[in-house]
Amino acid sequence: MIYFSLNIILQGHRTTGIEFIAIIIAVILVFIQAAIKGEKRVKEDKEYCRKNGIDYNEFLRIRNDKTAKNRARRIPKSTKNFVLSRDNYTCQYCGAINDLHIDHIYPFSRGGGNTTDNLQILCSDCNLQKSDKI
Ligand SMILES: [Zn+2]
Repeated sequence: MIYFSLNIILQGHRTTGIEFIAIIIAVILVFIQAAIKGEKRVKEDKEYCRKNGIDYNEFLRIRNDKTAKNRARRIPKSTKNFVLSRDNYTCQYCGAINDLHIDHIYPFSRGGGNTTDNLQILCSDCNLQKSDKI
């Protein structure tokens, strides 16, 4: 069946046995590569959680929260004020009180949202050092 489908895809070109095997190997390699990439991503995410003391399941919940409100680039002022107050107007890494920024614990660029549990206060130095690292 797969052999027949491939012949149709190749517009009637009759594949030889070796071509057919090469195509199957190529498809398998693409799947293996995707699986390895997925595993690497999970490993990176778990390492990120371990380093930052975040529960991995909570981290997944935050990342998968893709409601429009939580995916808006701009963080609402009320949310900023809540996080500033909760974090006592201090950098959560070094305790600095000047030049504070709101940081996405799980980076916005990697799908992190604007929920208060994904936001923290960092000074500009710590924020720059952290960047989008995972
Ligand atoms: Zn800091």
